Amino acid sequence: THDIHIVGGGLAGSEAAWQLAEAGYRVRLSEMRGSGERTPAHQTDHLAELVCSNSFRSDDAEANAVGLLHQEMRAMGSLIMRQADAHRVPAGSALAVDRDGYSAGVTAALADHPNVTLIRERVDALPDGPAILATGPLTAAGLAQAIGGATGAEALAFFDALAPIVHADTIDMDVAWKASRWDKGEADYINCPMDKEQYLAFHAALLAGEKGEFKDWEKDTPYFEGCMPIEVMAERGLDTLRYGPMKPVGLDNPRTGRWPYAVVQLRQDNAQGTLWNIVGFQTKLKHAEQVRLFRTIPGLQNAEFARLGGLHRNTFIRSPELLDPTLRLKSRPNLRFAGQITGCEGYIESAAIGLLAGRFAAAELAGETLAPPPVETALGALLGHITGGAEAETYQPMNVNFGLMPPIPGRTKKADRKRMYTDRARTAFAGWLNSPPPAPQPSADIS
Ligand code: FAD
Repeated sequence: THDIHIVGGGLAGSEAAWQLAEAGYRVRLSEMRGSGERTPAHQTDHLAELVCSNSFRSDDAEANAVGLLHQEMRAMGSLIMRQADAHRVPAGSALAVDRDGYSAGVTAALADHPNVTLIRERVDALPDGPAILATGPLTAAGLAQAIGGATGAEALAFFDALAPIVHADTIDMDVAWKASRWDKGEADYINCPMDKEQYLAFHAALLAGEKGEFKDWEKDTPYFEGCMPIEVMAERGLDTLRYGPMKPVGLDNPRTGRWPYAVVQLRQDNAQGTLWNIVGFQTKLKHAEQVRLFRTIPGLQNAEFARLGGLHRNTFIRSPELLDPTLRLKSRPNLRFAGQITGCEGYIESAAIGLLAGRFAAAELAGETLAPPPVETALGALLGHITGGAEAETYQPMNVNFGLMPPIPGRTKKADRKRMYTDRARTAFAGWLNSPPPAPQPSADIS
């Protein structure tokens, strides 16, 4: 018997299991690796395996949102952070790990925990009792189908098509302007104008730019036609982009009174208006190449990117519409989602959402409600993006970053601003962590 069933022993599922087990609840943890099953990316049977890089990125809690997230997770007794710290290898200010030592450490901690029953099995149906689904970007087909059945197939994606996202305060509005095509409705887009020479140079640079390759198993995924990379569009003809995402018609440049030759449009990406995505610019260009090339776009010469473009196989649900503020599926509240399947991006973000799912579930099993962390914290900002901050229709995965937090009012130097974000976050986090637990709720039954 168990109190809660966790499906998927990756970054998120392992952390969720640890939080619940440490809180005294009996966890059944189902992981299909080790039962003869594999994902196309995992190499071992270890829990919380790192499928690619061995880095948890920046560990700088003063000036970096990822480092801040590390700090908050350590304060909450994160297993992933504890094992990462124990198996750290030199990597400057980044937290990189000996991948085998780290994932063996996570596996042993859970396998040896008296409250955890680790079962090597593939789960194909949605559990009926309290459960956390943490099956990741490569969720096995049977369960993906069951999730699609419960959420509506159109609310489940199998590819992410990531357009780059720019911090709004780094767009030069003396060059760009806000307008909608034909001045219809609100001025919803930020438009960056290009003349013919600029467009031709940009087109040539797209063709020449260094690109990442699709993995073999990604090529086989049939869902990819719907989200063509911008460089593939450029290959189809000189004017394909000018008739596609860079179409200038109906966009009078207030500085010339005319339509530009081509236009790059940005659309608001979060409720606070601090982040804007470049419309239609999903790409397999290498990250450094994207920064260099996109800064040649007039108005984006000083752009800072909250996320760069990409295109990968990735299973995720439309969380802002489907999940409640504590990660429960609104239509089946016995089920919580955690990890990359909720639409966060990255090892540490997946573990962070696993940690929160575990804490929310533990509170619920105790008949209490845990308030979500404040949006000024790294945990709260990431959670807020998933459960409500982002636009549901165009929802795409996202790393943690300062743009997900409420802006710091007034004008400040960039270096100071980062520290203001982390100072504010620490105060908010301490207040949340130290606030007394709320009184038990009368209805503790979640099954
Ligand atoms: P996972 O860690 O994938 O865990 C999900 C687990 O569920 C797996 O162990 C899987 O075997 C299991 N499972 C799936 N279906 C079932 C089922 N039906 N029944 C039982 N078990 C099941 N992020 C980074 O920060 N850095 C990187 O370098 C990086 N590289 C990536 C490379 C690739 C190819 C991919 C796909 C993703 C990469 N990511 C990277 C993104 C992301 O951080 C990782 O995928 C991360 O592992 C997600 O954590 P998770 O817990 O959500 O899923």
